[in-house]
Amino acid sequence: MHPPRGLTRRTWLLRSAALALGAGASQLCATEAQWPAERAAGVFRCHADFSLDHFEPLIAELGELENDLARDLDLAAPREEIHLFLFERKATYEAYLKQYFPKVPARKALFIKARGPGMVFAYRSGELEIDVRHEATHALLHTSIQSLPLWLDEGLAEYYEVARDQRLAGCPYVSGVRWNVRLGYVPELQKLEKLRDISEMGKDEYRDAWAWVHFLLHSSATTHRILRSYLAQHAAGKDPGELSAWLRRDMAEPETQFSLYFRRWNVVQK
Ligand SMILES: [Zn+2]
Repeated sequence: MHPPRGLTRRTWLLRSAALALGAGASQLCATEAQWPAERAAGVFRCHADFSLDHFEPLIAELGELENDLARDLDLAAPREEIHLFLFERKATYEAYLKQYFPKVPARKALFIKARGPGMVFAYRSGELEIDVRHEATHALLHTSIQSLPLWLDEGLAEYYEVARDQRLAGCPYVSGVRWNVRLGYVPELQKLEKLRDISEMGKDEYRDAWAWVHFLLHSSATTHRILRSYLAQHAAGKDPGELSAWLRRDMAEPETQFSLYFRRWNVVQK
């Protein structure tokens, strides 16, 4: 069942520093007695109130995520640590956030970066691994890019939230996107580019953002280059305008190319 529009399924990237007037990572890490399990993987420092023995593969994957983003997106290596705070129970997670970030709206998982290192918070639900990869992607992106268009930030997080070995062809959005293109529906990138607030993003918008990111990364060397150049402009603190305009400048009919890419999916993924 689709969640109601406005109640996005799991994510909240804190874009307003004013909302985050709460604790910093160093303060939260200093309460070491609360963190019976700790691990390090790449730039990530994981702190959990439950044993992480069953989550070693996830933690190893986080270490790989940093390299994957650097390779795929041509991003500079993160210059600061990212802290993950994981909770066994939802109630503990909610109480913790209420205590340290009283102004932050309740969400299933969070990435908060206001001052100092980025922080990811999540609890042990059936989607913990997806939530962690999703928010960790936001956290990695924002170590080198201060501001990104909402659709692209979420589209990239949706792309990298999938388990590493399923990332290329195993995302649950694939069948819906392929069905839509067969029916002649191509999501308008320009419509996605108008989204300004996470509350405007429902399941369809997440799916469409994922689809455009997948297309950009894998459709051709040209689309991949455009995506990397566009991100580089953001990383340099410049305003590159809308990506749809970049695509139109360098390729004919991006929507048709998008449709062809997903129609040929089975061939492309072999
Ligand atoms: Zn997100």
